This record gives sequence, C-alpha cells and structure tokens, in this order.
Amino acid sequence: MFDSKLITLIVSVITIAPIIAILIEKWKFKNNTNINRDKNYYYKCIFITYENYSCLQHVYNTTSCGEKCSYAYLTEILNLLKSAKSSISMCMYHLSLQQIFQEIINAKLRGVSIRIITDREMEFNSGSKISRLRQEGVEIKTQSIAELTGYLHHKFCLIDKNYDSQIMWFGSLNLTLQGICSNWDNIVITNNNDIILRFSNAFENLWTDM
Ligand SMILES: [Zn+2]
Repeated sequence: MFDSKLITLIVSVITIAPIIAILIEKWKFKNNTNINRDKNYYYKCIFITYENYSCLQHVYNTTSCGEKCSYAYLTEILNLLKSAKSSISMCMYHLSLQQIFQEIINAKLRGVSIRIITDREMEFNSGSKISRLRQEGVEIKTQSIAELTGYLHHKFCLIDKNYDSQIMWFGSLNLTLQGICSNWDNIVITNNNDIILRFSNAFENLWTDM
C-alpha cells in the first residue's frame, strides 16, 4: 500500500511541475542573448485611422492639423527620403504619391543610389509613378512572369543601410493618397540594427532573384 506522504509528494510534484516549467521558460526568454536588448535604438509607430480621412484636404493644402495629421505623417516619410545620403532601397507594392516621386528624383539628383522593387501588375495601375521613375533612370525591378504567383506585397524602405545614419520604415502603408488618408494602416520607423539587417538581407535576395 502507498504511504500517504508518498502520495502527497507525487501529487505535489505533478501540480508544481508545470509552474516550474513556465518559470524556467520565462527565465530563458529573459536571458536570451540573441534578443537585442539595446535600448538606444529609435523607433516610432504611426497608425492611420478613419480620423485621417479629414486630412485629405491637409495633404492637398500642405497644412498640418497636428501631430496625427496625414500631412505630418507624409512629411515625416519625405524627411526620411530627404535625409538619404548614400542609398534608398525600397520595396513597395504601390507608389502613386507625387510628393514621394519628387523626393526620390531629388535624391537621385544629389547622387543617392536608388533601387525600387515593386509589383509587376501594380506598375500599370492608374496613378502609379513607377513608369515615370523608370523614365527618369531609377533602377526598378519586378517579379518575372515565372515568379508571378502572388503580389509583391512588401512595403518597406531602407535608407543609407550599412552606414551609421541608417534608418528604415516598414508596415502596411502603400505610398498612396488613399493609404496616407483613408485606410487603416501602420508604419514603424526604426534604426534598429537587427531589424534593418533582416530587411536588408531580404531586399538583396529579392533584388538578386529578380
Ligand atoms: Zn490633418
């Protein structure tokens, strides 16, 4: 017959074991040296909501109604492109904003290396600035027909990668008026080395494969 103390011990172990396992996992996560815990990097999250629909006029008039204005967000993106000294590596499903087109051309004129990867079909969407960018000599790649199994749906942009000033944005936002004013969309702006490296590798792999 089992000793009652032995049964109590077995029940206690069965009860406590999962709790100990969870605590060990939490400790391992906290001490995972593969996670960059450097707090010095910068990041900013932008969320576009239905409230930004009223900002359509602010984008047209180039006036801001506050820090959550679509025009303020657009200005922030334009300033990132303006800050480029070495390179702009952009992966964008749809690009139709005239202001973005102009800022890319400005960057090219001051000697910045520009590479854009976009969707093969969206290039011919009305309003797309991709054909005009090609005409201006900007290097642009799209999927080959053989690779055309889905949309090139990425939306990210690396600026001055591999330099101290490197910065990027990524998220759901297409560079369109609808995206900046009418959709529920987001972007994250960051200079985090690890994130930039991952996106940079992804960009280079796409660029090589296309
Ligand atoms: Zn506004």
